[in-house]
Amino acid sequence: MNVTAEPCIDLEQERREILKRYRRLLRAAKPLLKDNDAKLIKKAFNTSAEAHKNMRRRSGEPYIYHPLAVAQIAVEEIGLGTTSIVAALLHDVVEDTDMTIPDIDRLFGPKVAKIIDGLTKISGFFEYGTSQQAENFRKMLLTLSDDVRVILIKLADRLHNMRTLDSMPRDKQLKIASETIYIYAPLAHRLGLYAIKSELEDLYLKYVEPEAYKDIARKLRETKASRDRFISRFIEPLEEDLAETGIKFVVKGRPKSIYSIWNKLSKQKKPFEEIFDLFAVRVILDVSQEDEKAACWRAYSIVTDHYKPNPDRLKDWISTPRANGYESLHTTVMSKTGQWVEVQIRSERMNEVAEKGYAAHWKYKGSETSTGAGIEVWISQVRDMLETTSQGDKTGAIEFMDDFRSNLYSEEVFVFTPKGDLKVLQRGATALDFAFEIHTQVGARCMAAKVNNILVPLSHVLNNGDQVEVITSNKQKPSEDWLRFVVTSKAKTKIKDLIKEDNKRYITDGRDLVAKKLKILRLEMNNEMLNQLRAFFGSKTVNDFFYRVGKGHIDTNELKRFKADKDAKENRQNKLNTDKIQDGKTFEKELKKIHGDRADADMLLIGEDMDKIDYTLAKCCNPISGDDVFGFVTINEGIKIHRVTCPNAVELMSNHGNRIIKAKWTSQRDLAFLAGLRITGTDRVGLVNDVTRIISNELHINMRSVTIDSKDGIFEGLIKLYVHDTAHLDILMRKLERVGGVFEVVRFD
Ligand code: MN
Repeated sequence: MNVTAEPCIDLEQERREILKRYRRLLRAAKPLLKDNDAKLIKKAFNTSAEAHKNMRRRSGEPYIYHPLAVAQIAVEEIGLGTTSIVAALLHDVVEDTDMTIPDIDRLFGPKVAKIIDGLTKISGFFEYGTSQQAENFRKMLLTLSDDVRVILIKLADRLHNMRTLDSMPRDKQLKIASETIYIYAPLAHRLGLYAIKSELEDLYLKYVEPEAYKDIARKLRETKASRDRFISRFIEPLEEDLAETGIKFVVKGRPKSIYSIWNKLSKQKKPFEEIFDLFAVRVILDVSQEDEKAACWRAYSIVTDHYKPNPDRLKDWISTPRANGYESLHTTVMSKTGQWVEVQIRSERMNEVAEKGYAAHWKYKGSETSTGAGIEVWISQVRDMLETTSQGDKTGAIEFMDDFRSNLYSEEVFVFTPKGDLKVLQRGATALDFAFEIHTQVGARCMAAKVNNILVPLSHVLNNGDQVEVITSNKQKPSEDWLRFVVTSKAKTKIKDLIKEDNKRYITDGRDLVAKKLKILRLEMNNEMLNQLRAFFGSKTVNDFFYRVGKGHIDTNELKRFKADKDAKENRQNKLNTDKIQDGKTFEKELKKIHGDRADADMLLIGEDMDKIDYTLAKCCNPISGDDVFGFVTINEGIKIHRVTCPNAVELMSNHGNRIIKAKWTSQRDLAFLAGLRITGTDRVGLVNDVTRIISNELHINMRSVTIDSKDGIFEGLIKLYVHDTAHLDILMRKLERVGGVFEVVRFD
């Protein structure tokens, strides 16, 4: 140990540095200060400095540097005011020192106390996939809907921690950086804080992928001179024409963030040299708010006079700002050297809102702009969702968080109600998302929709400007299938909740039905019996079995089969033990014993022998009543019935001739006749599956042919199938009518 190098901190110099930083904060806040604000900030600074006085950051610096820096970010980079500066200065005192929330309340009032309370609650780590994380996240969102400043200060806190991540050990660096990319950067994006979002992402990359980060940063430096030359040549003619308009303006080239370039490199799998859109050109106009729209379009006209625009890449976020409040006019034009260049046109005000987001919009609030309205709508949606997601449901909380997170980055699509009200949805949203946006009950009963007066299925993806009318039906029920195409977290959350509720009802209904039927069959309803039923119908759990009964997938009449099977099993002595029989001759001898003196005594009678012999219909050829068939004695699976035309028949007969037995359908099975049904409905995802599942699996009916036609979102299926009688057909038709999306089921022959 080196004794001479003992740490020597110049306390006086440190004190001067702390004061210097405090004065810098005051200077930044000065334009917003009113009445007693400066005094309040001073009091907060003194309180915080005193509380943290014996604490140091891991870097060895006095702890107070951190709250000072967070307050500085809050005012300079987010544009927050006195209350937030005070809260930022005090943000760590309750967690790290003896001070309590009531102390804060007494000294600084309830508003500050509430913000600190929120900040204290959401501290701690988010470990992905744990319910603890989901719970923390939930708290964070609750405070967000209470007071958005909590999240904004939390973002400032996180930004400063990321800026000073160097002094942390490697494992902490990775953990903090991952959390940042997982939730804080998306939140910054959603709140319109572009500058902070980009910096958080870049810092993430710097610590998690240091090589890639350094590589891109170096290449950006190396190519800067040629890029600058290109940009100045590109903007020269624009500047000349803009100057003639008399509008004050700035035009500059803005390099894209290292993270976004890294993303492009990894997504497009191209080398750096082949990525061209490394920068955007930004035109910022200094005009009054009344003139800004016209001025922006004027500038657009000048840009496109010189460069040809890509017609697909015009984005007008001035007439309809993005949901996070972003306003700008974007176009992508072809430069003289054949490269696409993105040009962003906006006013000074729009630029400030774009950089600082949420807080900046309050500064302009009260004016005629719709900026920020999107955020308020969003926050109220968040509150709404939190209220409907059931608390304490752990997997639910994690799922909710994933859904929510995936929504943070999405772009939006603007659509209209039939009355012309504007609705903003996530890009990729479907007619069903729209229905849930209108109201949960509208979504739950949504049958189809008309988009611009054309009937479309629920899964129809909406485009900007679509006018959407929802068609509901009381017969409609939410289904699992819906989750495959909805994209908004609102719709996802509501559908999951509705299905859960529905499932519970089906389970109770199923239990009642089973109880009734068991009574009729004189069977006792006990655990043993229920477990046998579960196994017989191939359900995973007893509740699952009840559910299938309640839903109509299992007809309670099928419980008769269960009883017959059970009775047969109990009379096992009389029954042929096919397990031990390995060849056809022995089997036929045994059959004769059962059948007695009949002419066809050596044949397996399909239908009649059901309760005496274990046999199944082969899956490879799905024989149906009337097909030419034979039986095959398998080694472990009893007798299998194959069609004579089965693709495996030749192999079976030629190599295992000794195991073949004669088989035929008994007369009772021949009493099936061919019927045809025409089914019409909306062509939603999974409809065909639902229809065919009901026909083939659930009622054990043989389908003969199916043709399905779909046009303009309308589905028409012609299905030919075998049924026993008309009552049988009626039951089937009623079941099909209940399938979501089906309008009509008629017999056509
Ligand atoms: Mn902190």
